[in-house]
Amino acid sequence: MRAWPPGVRTGPPVPTAFLDRDGTINRDRAGVYITSPSALKIYSGAPAAVKLLNAKGYRVVVITNQSGIGRGYMTMAASRRINARLLRELKRAGARIDAVYFCPHRPDEKCACRKPAPGLIREALRDRPADMTRSFIAGDKDSDLELAANAGLKGLLVLTGQGRAASLPAKRYRDLAALARALPDLGACPT
Ligand SMILES: [Mg+2]
Ligand SMILES: [Zn+2]
Repeated sequence: MRAWPPGVRTGPPVPTAFLDRDGTINRDRAGVYITSPSALKIYSGAPAAVKLLNAKGYRVVVITNQSGIGRGYMTMAASRRINARLLRELKRAGARIDAVYFCPHRPDEKCACRKPAPGLIREALRDRPADMTRSFIAGDKDSDLELAANAGLKGLLVLTGQGRAASLPAKRYRDLAALARALPDLGACPT
């Protein structure tokens, strides 16, 4: 489901950084759900990392499982407020997130959008065509890497959040900032 913004963007395919949210952009611990804006702790290096991805020519799209909604730990409205805070804080730092897609379902609902199922990526690609060869998915869990494989994209692992528990082979980065620094400058900012 698209959480934000209300509109789509057509146009030529753009290199896109599909970023996991919890554990990649903001703090995450196993079994702890972020159910209010005040519980969202953005990693100190994350805003600059997103800004650097923008500067290197990547459109940044957030892809996040939020089963806390389906489990009844938070409402859709609370989830919206959390994402609004994330977007606001990053924007304040000059970092641009183009869109946020989320799965609100519980694992037992067997939906097509809970990562590692590729539903959210498919939806994002319909809304915002991506240059598949220069796009990637970055996250802190094996499910993010499995999502990348399922979607035909490169998967990159950050060692923040639950990254140290991940076991699938992937390029590993200390955090999102290190990942952003390591990527090539594609030379053109997507608008
Ligand atoms: Mg995560
Ligand atoms: Zn879902």
